[in-house]
Amino acid sequence: MAETSIKRTHIKGSAGKFGTRYGRTNREKFNKIDALQKATYVCPFCSYMKVKRGSMGIWECSKCKAKFTSKAYTVTKTSITATEEEAEVEKNE
Ligand SMILES: [Zn+2]
Repeated sequence: MAETSIKRTHIKGSAGKFGTRYGRTNREKFNKIDALQKATYVCPFCSYMKVKRGSMGIWECSKCKAKFTSKAYTVTKTSITATEEEAEVEKNE
């Protein structure tokens, strides 16, 4: 980095749509959470990287069509085992 370089404070990423609004810290937090909720996760039923977030806490696998609940913005292994039975019922319908 050159001595003359300007220190940039602009936060890019998905929070870039907010422009200068809502404050730096809030935009940084949004970037972290938004990246988590938009990411694809490993399906606990078919092991494919096909799980996307449907809505708040609802996750769907586009490979085996399994629908299960987990955390609002991420998928955790602990909550998956508890809802495995429910997802099986939904698949058979
Ligand atoms: Zn699956």
